[in-house]
Amino acid sequence: MTTTAKPQSSAQEFHQLSADAAAHQFGSDLTAGLTAALVDQQRGHYGLNELTVKPGKPAWLRFLLQFNQALLYILIVAGAIKAFLGAWTNAAVIWGVTIINAVIGFVQESKAEGAIAALAKAVTTEATVIRDGQKQRISSEEIVPGDLVLLTSGDKVPADLRLVSARNLQIDESALTGESVPVEKLTAPLQPDTPLAERLNMAYAGSFVTFGQGSGIVVATANATEVGRISQSLGQSTNLSTPLTRKFAQFSHKLLYIILALATLTMAVGIAQGQPLAGMFEAAVALAVSAIPEGLPAVVTVTLAIGVNRMARRHAIVRKLPAVETLGGATVICSDKTGTLTENQMTVQAIYAGQRRYRVSGTGYSPDGAIYETRTWDSLHDVESDVESDAESVQESVIDAAPMLRECLIAGLMCNDSHLEVSEDSQGQGQDRWVVIGDPTEGALIAAASKANLHADAIAPSLPRLDSIPFESQFQYMATLHEPQDAPRGETVIYVKGSVEAVLGRCQPTLEGRALDRHEIEQNVETMAKQGLRVLAFAKKPMPADHDSLDHHDLETGLMFLGMQGMIDPPRAEAIAAVRSCQSAGIQVKMITGDHITTATAIAERIGLQKAGQVRAFDGQQLTRMDDAELSQAVEDGVVFARVAPEQKFRLVEALQRRGEIVAMTGDGVNDAPALRQADIGIAMGGAGTDVAREASDMLLTDDNFASIEAAVEEGRTVYQNLRKAIAFILPVNGGESMTILLSALFARDLPILSLQVLWLNMVNSVAMTVPLAFEPKSEGVMENLPRNPREPLLSKSLLQRIVLISVFNWVLIFGMFEWIRQTTGNIALARTMAIQALVGGRVVYLLSISHLGRALMSKLRGQAIPIGDTKAIVIGIVSTVVLQIMFSQWSAMNTLFGTAPLSLNQWLICLLPALPMVPVALFANRLDRPD
Ligand code: ADP
Ligand code: MG
Repeated sequence: MTTTAKPQSSAQEFHQLSADAAAHQFGSDLTAGLTAALVDQQRGHYGLNELTVKPGKPAWLRFLLQFNQALLYILIVAGAIKAFLGAWTNAAVIWGVTIINAVIGFVQESKAEGAIAALAKAVTTEATVIRDGQKQRISSEEIVPGDLVLLTSGDKVPADLRLVSARNLQIDESALTGESVPVEKLTAPLQPDTPLAERLNMAYAGSFVTFGQGSGIVVATANATEVGRISQSLGQSTNLSTPLTRKFAQFSHKLLYIILALATLTMAVGIAQGQPLAGMFEAAVALAVSAIPEGLPAVVTVTLAIGVNRMARRHAIVRKLPAVETLGGATVICSDKTGTLTENQMTVQAIYAGQRRYRVSGTGYSPDGAIYETRTWDSLHDVESDVESDAESVQESVIDAAPMLRECLIAGLMCNDSHLEVSEDSQGQGQDRWVVIGDPTEGALIAAASKANLHADAIAPSLPRLDSIPFESQFQYMATLHEPQDAPRGETVIYVKGSVEAVLGRCQPTLEGRALDRHEIEQNVETMAKQGLRVLAFAKKPMPADHDSLDHHDLETGLMFLGMQGMIDPPRAEAIAAVRSCQSAGIQVKMITGDHITTATAIAERIGLQKAGQVRAFDGQQLTRMDDAELSQAVEDGVVFARVAPEQKFRLVEALQRRGEIVAMTGDGVNDAPALRQADIGIAMGGAGTDVAREASDMLLTDDNFASIEAAVEEGRTVYQNLRKAIAFILPVNGGESMTILLSALFARDLPILSLQVLWLNMVNSVAMTVPLAFEPKSEGVMENLPRNPREPLLSKSLLQRIVLISVFNWVLIFGMFEWIRQTTGNIALARTMAIQALVGGRVVYLLSISHLGRALMSKLRGQAIPIGDTKAIVIGIVSTVVLQIMFSQWSAMNTLFGTAPLSLNQWLICLLPALPMVPVALFANRLDRPD
């Protein structure tokens, strides 16, 4: 669709035009934007606003790169040696296996990449535009040239824009220009020869708004944008490498040298003993092939891909694959409070105005409820219980008698960018549900005002808004400028709402002639906050008549305090359970919030972050004054960090990391990006987050819920466990095989397994039996163990011991069976075949011993009941193994290819015998090294 669009006129010249002229070129308007008809026309002309993506590397190259692995070189050379010796069938099979290996790797990788890319794509970027004079939220893809786009801090610029307005607008253009300092934007026309980086009246697609607001006319979309020109393959190379896969790569490099050394040794010994050349080569090749865990890379990719899928099903979308692994090792989760640990469903319950206290009844955003005066604010949560639905007249009288209350409610209504809507109840019970469009904090203020019969529609016409400063965490307030229609000389007025600290500090010391009693106000804040209420303060400031725009500067002093409203935001029930689960898993949960320290502490207690009365809390100011040593202690002890500025989040992450913690950190604002990048796992919100935060994150939560972080950690741990299981399962076979071959070669005996048979075991058999381990269900104890030590190597001591133990068992088994059958029957092909079948028999027992199915069965025997869970994969794996092994020895084609011999029923039964001693050995191995 995009490619068929006609080339757009170059964005080159727009910086020299006025904004109006730019709009004119597209038939657009600087206030009303495009008309619907024009949007359709433009879309037909220019197509969708998306970059055509050239795949990073062509498929054939990615396929060839599959061969670029140290261990595969050995296979290729091994095949060449066979060919050189004239053993063409052998050579063909070895090469064939190499190719199959590459195909499996290629297919798995493409599938994993596709899955991750699809997940990432499902999270679309949105943009705000004005069309037909109406503000609309649309997907960025739907933007067309001529659209009037509104920008606010945190947004990703969706297309190339000629700016129409800019208020303190700063844009980070590093993606385009490499310049990391954000650029302050302007709107005036510029000289024609101004270079790109200095076109201050333009905003370019792919850059980020880091501060302020603005708007602009779209002058180029899709591939015609500056980024589209520079590169059409941006941001689409999914990287499949993770710390673990890199460790594997290092491991196989080491293995390569060991194999080369051993193969050389085998040859040297053979030559010294005067053995025939062909036999020595076979031994060297068999040794090399036996030591390589050919099936492992495929299993690793499958396991990671399954982890990504399982996380997605639980609302956590992985943006960067390493996060899957890192999550499993997380030791600290730093979470936002509002919306993540709490519901983000605000209801005003207490109001303080004109030195009087009021309670507000009702829940949610519906206008049902009343405001009435009260002496105490004890147990505000139970407000429902002590208020019978009050009569209208009571409300009216309260409002009439309390001008300050009225002012306070009006301030909440006017200094507000959100609105409430009735959404038809989906269950069709005829009950209306009120929902907020916008910020829940603001929604609560609208609901509170409506309980006093104050409505924005009725008041706004007499108080038209001239300008506004939206809420930003870093300032903690929002302000609007209005022009009261009844003002005698056209004076204007500012309404402000924000945190008590931010507002009160700017208020004048007197109110209606009385001194402002800060102490009393603070006491009231304390009473509300102790009960977990989020408190907002309100103020206004009269301004001169000609004042028509608002600046932070206008708010420095001289505000008139109007009152406060306290709202409850209940903890999420799932979050409480998830926090408990994290704690039993040895993961610390810390709350990081912009809210008041007392409110945050109260909520932390209710969520169970720490026992009531023992919650250690710090606020931003305290943190600022700390030196590194104090901070290091504070981050360890504290569970609540309140009034934290985004820059401080970065310091907190660093301090935790210096203590050796693996930190997961949530964030949604523009200024959270550095902390998200610094964290081991940066988590952004899919719902409430800004584009900037999302881009910086490793993982996205689609439901913004803390419980999903816990779920992701659980899945991350399961992935790691399953990878460990796969290693514990695969390597002992390589160990057993190579020991057998090495010793036989050194003592100049017949080889108990030939190189092709080794390949069969390592590829066909190992893959059939190991891939099911990637599907293993999470173990019931997954969140009961401590996080793994981040410094512990993948092949930990206990895992190595296990591998050596089972390797020795396998060696004895292969060697013993081979020698026994050879000596009793003299049939060497039969002896080899039976050795292999016996090995696989033992392997089935070993697989069961490390799988969840085996554990569940054992627990049944002991009379406990671990649920058997989903074991389809293991069963399929075992059944296909049996079928493949029967083919391996009973089918004549396989006999020719692999040098095997058909077995009689008795011989089959003999092969099953060694599986018996495997039972105690495997159980002992489980004691050495727990599989989960
Ligand atoms: P958090 O998201 O961690 O709860 P915020 O940074 O959103 O913290 O809020 C910090 C403080 O700013 C709040 O305690 C409240 O007093 C004030 N505040 C929050 N939202 C708004 C808003 N929309 N307008 C004005 N003030 C707000
Ligand atoms: Mg907030």
